[in-house]
Amino acid sequence: MAKKNIDWGSIGFSYIPTDKRYVANFKDGKWEGGLTSDPNVVINECAGVLQYSQSCFEGLKAYTTEDGRTVCFRPDLNAARMKSSCERLKMPVFPEDKFVEAVKEVVKANIDYVPPYGSGATLYIRPYMFGSNPVIGVKPADEYQFRIFVTPVGPYFKGGAKPITIRVTDLDRAAPRGTGHIKAGLNYAMSLYNIVDAHENGFDENLYVDPATRTKVEETGGANCIFVDKNGTVVVPKSPSILPSITRRSLVTVAKDYLGLNVEEREVYLSELSDFAEMGLCGTAAVISPIGKVYDHGKEICFPSGMDEMGPTIKKLYDTLTGIQMGRIEAPEGWIVEIK
Ligand SMILES: *Cc1c(COP(=O)(O)O)cnc(C)c1O
Repeated sequence: MAKKNIDWGSIGFSYIPTDKRYVANFKDGKWEGGLTSDPNVVINECAGVLQYSQSCFEGLKAYTTEDGRTVCFRPDLNAARMKSSCERLKMPVFPEDKFVEAVKEVVKANIDYVPPYGSGATLYIRPYMFGSNPVIGVKPADEYQFRIFVTPVGPYFKGGAKPITIRVTDLDRAAPRGTGHIKAGLNYAMSLYNIVDAHENGFDENLYVDPATRTKVEETGGANCIFVDKNGTVVVPKSPSILPSITRRSLVTVAKDYLGLNVEEREVYLSELSDFAEMGLCGTAAVISPIGKVYDHGKEICFPSGMDEMGPTIKKLYDTLTGIQMGRIEAPEGWIVEIK
């Protein structure tokens, strides 16, 4: 075994094909699958996913710890979340234990693409599922494909995490009783217009509010929010249409059990933003991105942590969670799954 000759420090977040991927097909009520070298998907022109977008996905990472083990972070939670996505989209569930085994199998088959410790790069793992047989009348497909590919991705923050600026948007991401809480591809398709518009207007992300009252903070297009108030309490917004981020749930445990902080999970009003000391966005890709400024219809909310670095509490949360992930700090039972 030899690591691939890749300049780990200079790769970005884009698709680099690797040697193997996992494919399972669902037909006549059962799943059958294994590893393959073929990166292409061949499906009928009328496949359910191409007509009515019946698809969902997950995202997690494998990386090398300080002591040289190859691990991934809480894959059981991705399996459970994909189960709830499938149930909401009338897709068959890929069994949770088999999901974790398939993640391990595909990482192991591409072990030479797992970036070394200290490079800042990781192996991104993308499980996904879609309706694969022809569907023309509106109904769930009968056949499905579940796949997992992996691709090495570079350090999310090259040269340190700089605070970003986001805007409160007038468009909506998720209806109150819609699909915001599941990882459906369709939630992303309809956010593309707005993210391009945000970038064209000089903002890094859109902050979505609850569509019913437009007074409460939900999340951005692809990351949950986390706040720290002026007493050092960690506050995370609560809403049935927020995607349950594994990073956010892990940070809540880290805040309570490792840092001894108070944590509140509650509705967060836009009108409270100016009372907070720190704000961040959390997700697998960056762990936490600090927010320096929120632009809300002509009004700027600037957090006291400023535009130069992470606020002190968010930095502690970031350092502790990444320390757990990289094996420098002891992990709670079951968080780190070794691939061997
Ligand atoms: C995937 C995702 C997140 C982040 O979830 P993690 O499990 O932490 O990666 C947050 N919001 C949305 C809308 C997402 O799709």
